[in-house]
Amino acid sequence: MGFNVAVDGPAGAGKSTIAKEVAKQLNLIYVDTGAMYRAMALYMLRSGVDPADTTAVIEKCDLADITIRYENGEQVVFLNGANVNPYLRTEEVGNATSVISVVPEVRKKMVELQHSLAAASDCIMDGRDIGTCVLPGAQLKIYLTADSAVRAKRRYDELMAKGQDCDLQKIQADIEERDYRDMHRETSPLCQAEDAVLVDTSDLTVQEVIDRLVQLCLERME
Ligand code: C5P
Repeated sequence: MGFNVAVDGPAGAGKSTIAKEVAKQLNLIYVDTGAMYRAMALYMLRSGVDPADTTAVIEKCDLADITIRYENGEQVVFLNGANVNPYLRTEEVGNATSVISVVPEVRKKMVELQHSLAAASDCIMDGRDIGTCVLPGAQLKIYLTADSAVRAKRRYDELMAKGQDCDLQKIQADIEERDYRDMHRETSPLCQAEDAVLVDTSDLTVQEVIDRLVQLCLERME
């Protein structure tokens, strides 16, 4: 096994921002597993499947061919041959994603893809169940979190910067609902692995969190 870092935590804790930068500094592949589940949710929405209709989701999930490529160090998600990166990071897709990702058949398919990526390269992988289920043998596990109000404000600023109009209170309510669903589902719920290092980013800058993670990685690499 190569060097694997698992980063888990609730929505908007900064996982992808941080993991992407740590990957760059340490020459690891950054694997964004949320994007894979998001691509599956996008497929359901585009196919007119209600994300809450488990039977329909199970029936359709084998028709979604999701693959990953790395272009200039960026993870690109292909859904049935087309790059869907531009469509994944919306609130609508995010909420639908947490609904379909309770389905074990969906998770099994995504975890197979994640295993093949981790086997091929040293990586830092972020998600909800990476330290607990996907890479239980990872050399370093991080549980990244922050107050839900702080996470909502960050998501709000991010969306506004992209020119997407949004409502702060609604975002906080969505985040809390999504966390609840992710933490209470039956199959691989979000929880801190016993051997994970807890990093609360509520009062830290992005740079402080990056520095802390890089330092932890370097210690474990020795
Ligand atoms: O991290 P991101 O916000 O992109 O994840 C979207 C949703 O995908 C999460 O709310 C969660 O329901 C699901 N997910 C998951 N397991 C993962 C990664 C994401 O269930 N490893």
